[in-house]
Amino acid sequence: MDFKQYVADVPDFPEEGILFRDITPLMSNGPAFHAAIDEIVAFAREKEVDVVVGPEARGFIVGCPVAYELDKGFVPARKKGKLPREIESIDYGLEYGHSTLQIHKDAIKPGDKVLIVDDLLATGGTIEACVSLVKQLGGDVVGAAFIIELDEFAARDKIADTEIFSLMHY
Ligand code: IMP
Repeated sequence: MDFKQYVADVPDFPEEGILFRDITPLMSNGPAFHAAIDEIVAFAREKEVDVVVGPEARGFIVGCPVAYELDKGFVPARKKGKLPREIESIDYGLEYGHSTLQIHKDAIKPGDKVLIVDDLLATGGTIEACVSLVKQLGGDVVGAAFIIELDEFAARDKIADTEIFSLMHY
């Protein structure tokens, strides 16, 4: 399938000079979204995955159907102040701005094999933060999967010991 036909390129969003890759057309097309999720699931099936972690907010949209299909649990990595119980926390830089991600401490058990899923890999700040959070809780990151990878940022170099699958490259 030509997945790129379902990605809208939006210049100067959210700031001037940034070319935003909008995957909402892909998500709103049933067969295309299904096929995209199936590709990530195929990558995940090559690993032994115990749990899927996805960062807020588009990581929920892509990660939940992957977890459902694998018959595994989904753990949200949420922005600051959203999770009600004891949390592990990390601050990190974004392509534009900075943020904090938090995971419930009891959501990942030591030795759990974790797949991290998000919509897009840009600078790698978000995925690097997720990898660190999982490791802080004793989890073992067995892979990371994305709908889109922006090659210009060379984020793979930042997390060289994590196997990465990306459906599309720009
Ligand atoms: P990174 O942390 O720089 O790798 O940025 C990845 C995060 O920022 C992901 O969670 C994306 O949702 C978001 N993001 C950055 N650039 C884009 C874009 O062009 N389109 C959609 N999301 C983006």
